[in-house]
Amino acid sequence: MSTTTGPDTQASPQTARMLARREQAVARGVAVSLPIAAAHAAGARLTDVDGRTYIDFTGGIGTLNVGHAHPKVVAAVEAQVRRLTHTCFPVAAYEPYVALCERLNALVPGPGPKKTILLNSGAEAVENAVKIARAATGRPAVVAFEQSFHGRTLLGMTLTGKVHPYKAGFGPFAPEVYHLPHPYRDPAAGAAASSQAWEDWFAEHLLAVVAPSSVAAVVVEPVAGEGGFLPVPPECLKALRAWCTRNGSVLVVDEVQTGFGRTGRMFGMEHAGIHADLTALAKSLAGGLPLAAVTGRADLMDAPPVGGLGSTYGGNPVACAAALAVLDVFESERLVERGARIGAVVAERFQRFAERFPFIGEARGVGAMQALEFVKDPRSRAPDAGRARAVQQAALARGLMILTAGMHANVLRTLMPLVIDDADLEAGLGILEAALDAAR
Ligand code: PMP
Repeated sequence: MSTTTGPDTQASPQTARMLARREQAVARGVAVSLPIAAAHAAGARLTDVDGRTYIDFTGGIGTLNVGHAHPKVVAAVEAQVRRLTHTCFPVAAYEPYVALCERLNALVPGPGPKKTILLNSGAEAVENAVKIARAATGRPAVVAFEQSFHGRTLLGMTLTGKVHPYKAGFGPFAPEVYHLPHPYRDPAAGAAASSQAWEDWFAEHLLAVVAPSSVAAVVVEPVAGEGGFLPVPPECLKALRAWCTRNGSVLVVDEVQTGFGRTGRMFGMEHAGIHADLTALAKSLAGGLPLAAVTGRADLMDAPPVGGLGSTYGGNPVACAAALAVLDVFESERLVERGARIGAVVAERFQRFAERFPFIGEARGVGAMQALEFVKDPRSRAPDAGRARAVQQAALARGLMILTAGMHANVLRTLMPLVIDDADLEAGLGILEAALDAAR
Protein backbone atom coordinates (compact mmCIF):
# COMPACT_ATOMS: atom_id res chain seq x y z
CA MET A 1 0.00 0.00 0.00
CA SER A 2 1.28 3.44 -0.82
CA THR A 3 1.50 6.43 1.43
CA THR A 4 0.04 9.58 -0.06
CA THR A 5 1.13 13.08 0.87
CA GLY A 6 -0.52 14.79 3.81
CA PRO A 7 -3.61 16.95 3.58
CA ASP A 8 -3.55 20.66 2.85
CA THR A 9 -3.43 22.06 6.40
CA GLN A 10 -5.29 25.26 5.43
CA ALA A 11 -8.08 23.54 3.55
CA SER A 12 -8.35 20.64 6.00
CA PRO A 13 -7.36 21.88 9.48
CA GLN A 14 -9.20 19.15 11.46
CA THR A 15 -7.79 16.42 9.28
CA ALA A 16 -4.29 17.82 9.59
CA ARG A 17 -4.63 17.94 13.40
CA MET A 18 -5.98 14.40 13.64
CA LEU A 19 -3.29 12.97 11.39
CA ALA A 20 -0.60 14.80 13.38
CA ARG A 21 -1.95 13.23 16.59
CA ARG A 22 -2.09 9.89 14.82
CA GLU A 23 1.55 10.17 13.83
CA GLN A 24 2.54 10.83 17.45
CA ALA A 25 0.37 8.15 19.03
CA VAL A 26 0.08 5.26 16.57
CA ALA A 27 2.87 2.89 15.55
CA ARG A 28 4.16 3.84 12.11
CA GLY A 29 3.88 0.23 10.92
CA VAL A 30 0.18 0.91 10.48
CA ALA A 31 0.35 2.48 7.02
CA VAL A 32 -1.35 5.71 5.96
CA SER A 33 -2.89 4.37 2.77
CA LEU A 34 -4.97 7.53 2.38
CA PRO A 35 -4.48 10.72 4.46
CA ILE A 36 -8.12 10.88 5.53
CA ALA A 37 -9.69 11.33 8.96
CA ALA A 38 -13.19 9.88 8.76
CA ALA A 39 -16.09 11.41 10.66
CA HIS A 40 -19.07 9.43 9.36
CA ALA A 41 -20.12 7.41 6.34
CA ALA A 42 -23.21 5.97 4.70
CA GLY A 43 -23.58 3.75 1.65
CA ALA A 44 -20.68 4.48 -0.69
CA ARG A 45 -19.87 7.93 0.68
CA LEU A 46 -17.54 8.93 3.48
CA THR A 47 -17.32 12.35 5.09
CA ASP A 48 -14.13 13.52 6.76
CA VAL A 49 -13.68 15.60 9.92
CA ASP A 50 -13.54 18.77 7.80
CA GLY A 51 -16.91 18.01 6.25
CA ARG A 52 -15.52 16.92 2.86
CA THR A 53 -17.40 14.00 1.29
CA TYR A 54 -15.67 11.33 -0.80
CA ILE A 55 -16.98 8.61 -3.08
CA ASP A 56 -15.57 5.43 -1.61
CA PHE A 57 -14.05 2.88 -4.00
CA THR A 58 -12.21 1.21 -1.06
CA GLY A 59 -15.09 -0.08 1.08
CA GLY A 60 -12.75 -0.54 4.06
CA ILE A 61 -10.64 -2.86 1.82
CA GLY A 62 -13.61 -4.87 0.59
CA THR A 63 -15.33 -5.10 3.96
CA LEU A 64 -18.37 -2.98 3.19
CA ASN A 65 -20.07 -4.70 0.27
CA VAL A 66 -23.42 -3.75 1.89
CA GLY A 67 -22.15 -0.19 2.30
CA HIS A 68 -21.24 1.94 5.28
CA ALA A 69 -23.80 1.89 8.09
CA HIS A 70 -26.51 -0.01 6.23
CA PRO A 71 -29.72 0.83 8.16
CA LYS A 72 -30.65 -2.86 8.55
CA VAL A 73 -27.20 -3.72 9.87
CA VAL A 74 -27.26 -0.74 12.23
CA ALA A 75 -30.71 -1.76 13.53
CA ALA A 76 -29.61 -5.37 14.08
CA VAL A 77 -26.48 -4.23 15.91
CA GLU A 78 -28.41 -1.79 18.11
CA ALA A 79 -30.97 -4.42 19.05
CA GLN A 80 -28.32 -7.04 19.79
CA VAL A 81 -26.15 -4.71 21.84
CA ARG A 82 -29.08 -4.16 24.21
CA ARG A 83 -29.76 -7.90 24.56
CA LEU A 84 -26.36 -9.56 24.87
CA THR A 85 -22.86 -8.36 23.98
CA HIS A 86 -20.64 -11.25 25.04
CA THR A 87 -20.47 -14.58 26.79
CA CYS A 88 -17.58 -16.31 24.99
CA PHE A 89 -19.48 -18.91 22.97
CA PRO A 90 -18.05 -22.03 24.68
CA VAL A 91 -19.10 -20.58 28.05
CA ALA A 92 -22.71 -19.91 27.04
CA ALA A 93 -24.07 -20.52 23.57
CA TYR A 94 -26.32 -17.94 21.92
CA GLU A 95 -28.64 -18.21 18.95
CA PRO A 96 -27.08 -15.69 16.50
CA TYR A 97 -23.83 -17.73 16.41
CA VAL A 98 -25.70 -20.95 15.64
CA ALA A 99 -28.00 -19.24 13.14
CA LEU A 100 -25.06 -17.74 11.28
CA CYS A 101 -23.27 -21.11 11.11
CA GLU A 102 -26.46 -22.64 9.68
CA ARG A 103 -26.70 -19.89 7.06
CA LEU A 104 -23.05 -20.20 6.04
CA ASN A 105 -23.29 -24.00 5.85
CA ALA A 106 -26.13 -23.59 3.36
CA LEU A 107 -24.54 -20.70 1.45
CA VAL A 108 -20.96 -21.83 0.87
CA PRO A 109 -20.57 -24.03 -2.24
CA GLY A 110 -20.08 -27.77 -1.85
CA PRO A 111 -22.07 -30.83 -0.95
CA GLY A 112 -23.17 -31.19 2.68
CA PRO A 113 -23.03 -31.82 5.50
CA LYS A 114 -21.00 -28.76 6.46
CA LYS A 115 -20.00 -27.10 9.72
CA THR A 116 -18.59 -23.68 10.64
CA ILE A 117 -16.42 -22.00 13.26
CA LEU A 118 -16.56 -18.24 13.81
CA LEU A 119 -13.47 -16.12 14.43
CA ASN A 120 -12.37 -12.48 14.39
CA SER A 121 -10.24 -11.82 11.34
CA GLY A 122 -9.26 -13.15 7.95
CA ALA A 123 -5.85 -14.21 9.24
CA GLU A 124 -7.49 -16.23 11.99
CA ALA A 125 -9.81 -17.90 9.50
CA VAL A 126 -6.88 -18.99 7.34
CA GLU A 127 -4.87 -20.16 10.39
CA ASN A 128 -7.79 -22.21 11.65
CA ALA A 129 -8.38 -23.74 8.22
CA VAL A 130 -4.76 -24.92 8.22
CA LYS A 131 -5.08 -26.28 11.77
CA ILE A 132 -8.20 -28.20 10.75
CA ALA A 133 -6.52 -29.54 7.59
CA ARG A 134 -3.50 -30.73 9.57
CA ALA A 135 -5.66 -32.35 12.24
CA ALA A 136 -7.75 -34.09 9.57
CA THR A 137 -4.88 -35.35 7.41
CA GLY A 138 -2.10 -35.85 9.96
CA ARG A 139 0.18 -34.16 7.41
CA PRO A 140 2.36 -31.08 7.96
CA ALA A 141 2.83 -29.24 4.66
CA VAL A 142 0.86 -26.36 3.18
CA VAL A 143 1.16 -25.15 -0.40
CA ALA A 144 0.42 -21.50 -1.16
CA PHE A 145 1.11 -19.11 -4.03
CA GLU A 146 3.45 -16.22 -4.62
CA GLN A 147 1.71 -12.82 -4.61
CA SER A 148 -0.98 -14.15 -2.31
CA PHE A 149 -2.03 -12.44 0.92
CA HIS A 150 -3.39 -14.43 3.84
CA GLY A 151 -2.90 -12.17 6.86
CA ARG A 152 -0.34 -10.81 9.29
CA THR A 153 -0.16 -13.47 12.01
CA LEU A 154 2.82 -15.86 11.97
CA LEU A 155 1.18 -18.48 9.76
CA GLY A 156 -0.79 -15.87 7.78
CA MET A 157 2.33 -13.93 6.88
CA THR A 158 4.27 -17.12 6.23
CA LEU A 159 1.59 -18.16 3.72
CA THR A 160 1.63 -14.67 2.19
CA GLY A 161 3.65 -14.50 -1.02
CA LYS A 162 4.86 -10.91 -0.83
CA VAL A 163 7.94 -9.99 1.19
CA HIS A 164 7.68 -6.18 1.45
CA PRO A 165 6.14 -4.91 3.65
CA TYR A 166 4.50 -8.03 5.08
CA LYS A 167 7.41 -10.35 5.90
CA ALA A 168 10.73 -8.50 5.80
CA GLY A 169 12.30 -8.52 9.26
CA PHE A 170 9.54 -10.58 10.85
CA GLY A 171 11.05 -14.05 10.54
CA PRO A 172 11.68 -16.81 11.35
CA PHE A 173 8.54 -18.03 9.67
CA ALA A 174 6.40 -21.08 10.31
CA PRO A 175 7.84 -24.29 8.85
CA GLU A 176 6.34 -26.50 6.14
CA VAL A 177 4.90 -23.75 3.96
CA TYR A 178 5.78 -23.98 0.25
CA HIS A 179 5.14 -21.34 -2.39
CA LEU A 180 4.47 -21.93 -6.07
CA PRO A 181 4.44 -19.17 -8.70
CA HIS A 182 1.12 -17.42 -9.10
CA PRO A 183 -0.58 -19.08 -12.09
CA TYR A 184 -1.78 -15.82 -13.67
CA ARG A 185 1.58 -14.88 -15.12
CA ASP A 186 3.79 -17.91 -14.73
CA PRO A 187 5.56 -18.07 -18.12
CA ALA A 188 5.79 -21.87 -17.93
CA ALA A 189 2.00 -22.03 -17.68
CA GLY A 190 1.33 -19.83 -20.71
CA ALA A 191 0.08 -22.61 -22.93
CA ALA A 192 -1.49 -24.59 -20.12
CA ALA A 193 -5.12 -24.10 -20.94
CA SER A 194 -6.71 -27.38 -19.90
CA SER A 195 -7.31 -28.55 -16.39
CA GLN A 196 -5.00 -31.51 -17.06
CA ALA A 197 -2.22 -29.20 -18.22
CA TRP A 198 -2.60 -27.16 -15.03
CA GLU A 199 -2.43 -30.32 -12.94
CA ASP A 200 0.81 -31.24 -14.70
CA TRP A 201 2.08 -27.69 -14.07
CA PHE A 202 1.23 -28.02 -10.37
CA ALA A 203 2.81 -31.49 -10.01
CA GLU A 204 5.94 -30.33 -11.84
CA HIS A 205 6.40 -27.36 -9.46
CA LEU A 206 5.79 -29.58 -6.42
CA LEU A 207 8.63 -31.88 -7.51
CA ALA A 208 11.08 -29.18 -6.46
CA VAL A 209 9.57 -28.37 -3.06
CA VAL A 210 7.48 -31.00 -1.26
CA ALA A 211 6.20 -34.59 -1.46
CA PRO A 212 2.48 -34.77 -2.29
CA SER A 213 2.05 -37.28 0.55
CA SER A 214 3.08 -34.52 3.01
CA VAL A 215 0.60 -31.94 1.76
CA ALA A 216 -2.18 -31.26 4.26
CA ALA A 217 -3.61 -28.30 2.36
CA VAL A 218 -3.41 -26.12 -0.72
CA VAL A 219 -4.43 -22.55 0.11
CA VAL A 220 -5.56 -20.28 -2.71
CA GLU A 221 -7.35 -16.96 -3.30
CA PRO A 222 -9.54 -17.25 -6.44
CA VAL A 223 -8.33 -13.74 -7.31
CA ALA A 224 -5.20 -12.54 -5.51
CA GLY A 225 -6.45 -9.38 -3.78
CA GLU A 226 -3.47 -7.59 -2.26
CA GLY A 227 -1.39 -9.19 -5.05
CA GLY A 228 -3.02 -6.90 -7.58
CA PHE A 229 -6.27 -8.62 -8.58
CA LEU A 230 -4.63 -11.54 -10.36
CA PRO A 231 -7.31 -14.09 -11.23
CA VAL A 232 -6.39 -17.76 -11.00
CA PRO A 233 -7.58 -19.22 -14.34
CA PRO A 234 -10.74 -21.29 -13.79
CA GLU A 235 -9.10 -24.37 -15.32
CA CYS A 236 -6.28 -24.01 -12.81
CA LEU A 237 -8.74 -23.88 -9.89
CA LYS A 238 -10.37 -27.01 -11.28
CA ALA A 239 -6.95 -28.66 -11.45
CA LEU A 240 -6.20 -27.77 -7.81
CA ARG A 241 -9.60 -29.20 -6.83
CA ALA A 242 -8.89 -32.43 -8.73
CA TRP A 243 -5.35 -32.74 -7.40
CA CYS A 244 -6.44 -32.27 -3.77
CA THR A 245 -9.21 -34.85 -4.11
CA ARG A 246 -6.89 -37.42 -5.64
CA ASN A 247 -4.07 -36.70 -3.23
CA GLY A 248 -6.15 -36.64 -0.04
CA SER A 249 -5.20 -32.99 0.59
CA VAL A 250 -7.58 -30.29 1.77
CA LEU A 251 -8.39 -27.48 -0.67
CA VAL A 252 -8.64 -24.25 1.35
CA VAL A 253 -10.12 -21.37 -0.65
CA ASP A 254 -9.45 -17.96 0.87
CA GLU A 255 -12.57 -15.94 -0.02
CA VAL A 256 -11.77 -13.18 2.47
CA GLN A 257 -11.53 -10.50 -0.27
CA THR A 258 -13.37 -12.25 -3.12
CA GLY A 259 -16.34 -13.23 -0.97
CA PHE A 260 -19.85 -11.91 -0.62
CA GLY A 261 -20.63 -10.75 -4.12
CA ARG A 262 -17.40 -8.95 -4.89
CA THR A 263 -16.73 -10.92 -8.10
CA GLY A 264 -20.33 -10.94 -9.34
CA ARG A 265 -20.96 -14.35 -7.79
CA MET A 266 -21.46 -14.92 -4.07
CA PHE A 267 -17.99 -16.54 -3.92
CA GLY A 268 -15.08 -16.21 -6.34
CA MET A 269 -14.61 -19.97 -6.68
CA GLU A 270 -18.07 -20.23 -8.27
CA HIS A 271 -16.65 -18.82 -11.52
CA ALA A 272 -14.66 -22.06 -11.84
CA GLY A 273 -17.60 -24.19 -10.73
CA ILE A 274 -15.57 -25.71 -7.90
CA HIS A 275 -16.09 -26.04 -4.16
CA ALA A 276 -13.49 -25.89 -1.43
CA ASP A 277 -13.11 -28.41 1.37
CA LEU A 278 -12.67 -25.45 3.73
CA THR A 279 -13.55 -21.85 2.90
CA ALA A 280 -12.03 -18.91 4.79
CA LEU A 281 -14.40 -15.94 5.11
CA ALA A 282 -14.15 -12.49 6.72
CA LYS A 283 -14.32 -8.85 5.53
CA SER A 284 -17.80 -8.25 4.06
CA LEU A 285 -19.36 -11.02 6.16
CA ALA A 286 -20.40 -8.61 8.90
CA GLY A 287 -20.60 -5.21 7.18
CA GLY A 288 -17.64 -3.73 9.03
CA LEU A 289 -17.83 -5.52 12.35
CA PRO A 290 -14.92 -7.88 13.06
CA LEU A 291 -16.01 -11.39 12.18
CA ALA A 292 -14.53 -14.31 10.26
CA ALA A 293 -15.44 -17.91 9.59
CA VAL A 294 -14.22 -21.24 8.35
CA THR A 295 -16.98 -23.23 6.68
CA GLY A 296 -16.39 -26.70 5.31
CA ARG A 297 -16.90 -30.41 5.18
CA ALA A 298 -18.27 -31.58 8.53
CA ASP A 299 -15.88 -34.56 8.69
CA LEU A 300 -12.89 -32.23 8.37
CA MET A 301 -14.32 -29.53 10.64
CA ASP A 302 -14.83 -32.14 13.38
CA ALA A 303 -11.26 -33.48 13.14
CA PRO A 304 -9.73 -31.24 15.84
CA PRO A 305 -10.54 -32.51 19.33
CA VAL A 306 -12.88 -30.75 21.76
CA GLY A 307 -11.18 -27.55 22.92
CA GLY A 308 -8.75 -27.59 19.98
CA LEU A 309 -10.51 -24.68 18.29
CA GLY A 310 -11.92 -21.48 19.76
CA SER A 311 -11.52 -17.81 20.49
CA THR A 312 -12.63 -15.47 23.26
CA TYR A 313 -14.35 -12.99 20.95
CA GLY A 314 -14.83 -15.15 17.85
CA GLY A 315 -18.46 -15.05 16.77
CA ASN A 316 -19.29 -12.20 19.11
CA PRO A 317 -23.11 -11.83 19.31
CA VAL A 318 -23.12 -8.26 17.96
CA ALA A 319 -20.96 -9.23 14.99
CA CYS A 320 -23.19 -12.27 14.34
CA ALA A 321 -26.31 -10.09 14.40
CA ALA A 322 -24.63 -7.77 11.88
CA ALA A 323 -23.72 -10.74 9.64
CA LEU A 324 -27.25 -12.13 9.68
CA ALA A 325 -28.51 -8.70 8.63
CA VAL A 326 -25.83 -8.52 5.92
CA LEU A 327 -27.00 -11.85 4.46
CA ASP A 328 -30.61 -10.59 4.52
CA VAL A 329 -29.55 -7.42 2.69
CA PHE A 330 -27.77 -9.52 0.06
CA GLU A 331 -31.06 -11.26 -0.64
CA SER A 332 -33.43 -8.30 -0.42
CA GLU A 333 -31.22 -5.97 -2.48
CA ARG A 334 -29.94 -8.68 -4.88
CA LEU A 335 -26.37 -7.53 -4.26
CA VAL A 336 -24.71 -10.42 -6.07
CA GLU A 337 -26.43 -9.40 -9.33
CA ARG A 338 -25.59 -5.79 -8.53
CA GLY A 339 -21.90 -6.79 -8.12
CA ALA A 340 -21.96 -8.35 -11.60
CA ARG A 341 -23.58 -5.23 -13.07
CA ILE A 342 -21.09 -2.88 -11.39
CA GLY A 343 -18.30 -5.13 -12.65
CA ALA A 344 -19.55 -4.92 -16.24
CA VAL A 345 -19.75 -1.11 -16.09
CA VAL A 346 -16.29 -0.72 -14.52
CA ALA A 347 -14.64 -3.31 -16.79
CA GLU A 348 -15.98 -1.61 -19.91
CA ARG A 349 -14.77 1.78 -18.71
CA PHE A 350 -11.36 0.42 -17.64
CA GLN A 351 -10.85 -1.13 -21.09
CA ARG A 352 -11.42 2.32 -22.59
CA PHE A 353 -8.94 3.82 -20.09
CA ALA A 354 -6.40 1.17 -21.16
CA GLU A 355 -6.88 2.22 -24.80
CA ARG A 356 -6.59 5.93 -23.98
CA PHE A 357 -3.66 5.90 -21.58
CA PRO A 358 -0.44 4.20 -22.74
CA PHE A 359 0.79 3.89 -19.14
CA ILE A 360 -2.00 1.42 -18.35
CA GLY A 361 -0.42 -1.94 -19.07
CA GLU A 362 -3.52 -3.95 -18.34
CA ALA A 363 -7.11 -3.58 -17.18
CA ARG A 364 -8.31 -6.81 -15.60
CA GLY A 365 -10.58 -8.24 -12.97
CA VAL A 366 -13.57 -10.38 -12.13
CA GLY A 367 -16.93 -8.74 -11.39
CA ALA A 368 -16.65 -5.62 -9.26
CA MET A 369 -13.04 -6.55 -8.44
CA GLN A 370 -11.43 -4.56 -11.28
CA ALA A 371 -7.88 -3.24 -11.53
CA LEU A 372 -5.67 -0.95 -13.60
CA GLU A 373 -2.00 -1.90 -13.80
CA PHE A 374 0.44 0.97 -14.42
CA VAL A 375 3.59 0.36 -16.46
CA LYS A 376 6.52 2.52 -17.56
CA ASP A 377 6.44 1.04 -21.04
CA PRO A 378 3.80 -1.18 -22.64
CA ARG A 379 6.39 -3.57 -24.09
CA SER A 380 8.62 -4.17 -21.06
CA ARG A 381 5.68 -3.87 -18.64
CA ALA A 382 8.10 -2.40 -16.08
CA PRO A 383 5.93 -1.48 -13.08
CA ASP A 384 5.18 2.21 -12.47
CA ALA A 385 4.23 2.62 -8.82
CA GLY A 386 4.84 6.37 -9.04
CA ARG A 387 2.12 6.81 -11.66
CA ALA A 388 -0.33 4.65 -9.70
CA ARG A 389 0.29 6.82 -6.64
CA ALA A 390 -0.02 10.05 -8.62
CA VAL A 391 -3.40 8.93 -10.00
CA GLN A 392 -4.50 7.86 -6.51
CA GLN A 393 -3.58 11.30 -5.13
CA ALA A 394 -5.18 13.17 -8.01
CA ALA A 395 -8.36 11.13 -7.47
CA LEU A 396 -8.36 11.86 -3.74
CA ALA A 397 -7.96 15.58 -4.38
CA ARG A 398 -11.07 15.35 -6.59
CA GLY A 399 -13.08 13.40 -4.00
CA LEU A 400 -12.52 9.70 -4.80
CA MET A 401 -10.98 7.15 -2.44
CA ILE A 402 -9.21 4.29 -4.24
CA LEU A 403 -6.46 1.89 -3.12
CA THR A 404 -3.31 0.50 -4.67
CA ALA A 405 -2.28 -3.17 -4.71
CA GLY A 406 0.25 -5.46 -6.35
CA MET A 407 3.77 -6.73 -5.78
CA HIS A 408 5.06 -3.31 -6.92
CA ALA A 409 2.11 -1.19 -5.66
CA ASN A 410 1.53 -0.28 -9.32
CA VAL A 411 -2.11 -1.34 -9.46
CA LEU A 412 -5.29 0.58 -8.59
CA ARG A 413 -8.21 -1.62 -7.56
CA THR A 414 -11.92 -1.14 -7.05
CA LEU A 415 -13.60 -2.30 -3.84
CA MET A 416 -16.63 -0.01 -3.83
CA PRO A 417 -19.67 -0.98 -1.76
CA LEU A 418 -22.08 -2.91 -3.98
CA VAL A 419 -24.90 -0.59 -2.83
CA ILE A 420 -23.28 2.30 -4.71
CA ASP A 421 -25.90 3.93 -6.95
CA ASP A 422 -25.40 4.48 -10.68
CA ALA A 423 -24.82 8.22 -10.23
CA ASP A 424 -21.99 7.76 -7.70
CA LEU A 425 -20.48 4.94 -9.73
CA GLU A 426 -20.44 7.19 -12.82
CA ALA A 427 -19.13 10.14 -10.79
CA GLY A 428 -16.35 7.97 -9.28
CA LEU A 429 -15.29 6.67 -12.69
CA GLY A 430 -15.37 10.24 -14.05
CA ILE A 431 -13.08 11.40 -11.24
CA LEU A 432 -10.74 8.50 -11.95
CA GLU A 433 -10.58 9.45 -15.62
CA ALA A 434 -9.84 13.07 -14.71
CA ALA A 435 -7.09 11.81 -12.35
CA LEU A 436 -5.61 9.70 -15.15
CA ASP A 437 -5.60 12.77 -17.38
CA ALA A 438 -3.97 14.83 -14.63
CA ALA A 439 -1.22 12.21 -14.18
CA ARG A 440 -0.30 12.06 -17.89
N1 PMP B 1 -6.93 -13.19 3.17
C1 PMP B 1 -7.17 -12.29 2.21
C2 PMP B 1 -7.43 -12.77 0.82
C3 PMP B 1 -7.20 -10.92 2.50
O1 PMP B 1 -7.42 -10.03 1.53
C4 PMP B 1 -6.96 -10.51 3.83
C5 PMP B 1 -6.98 -9.03 4.22
N2 PMP B 1 -6.61 -8.13 3.26
C6 PMP B 1 -6.70 -11.48 4.80
C7 PMP B 1 -6.71 -12.81 4.44
C8 PMP B 1 -6.44 -11.11 6.23
O2 PMP B 1 -7.58 -10.59 6.80
P1 PMP B 1 -7.50 -9.80 8.21
O3 PMP B 1 -6.81 -8.50 7.92
O4 PMP B 1 -8.93 -9.64 8.61
O5 PMP B 1 -6.73 -10.65 9.14
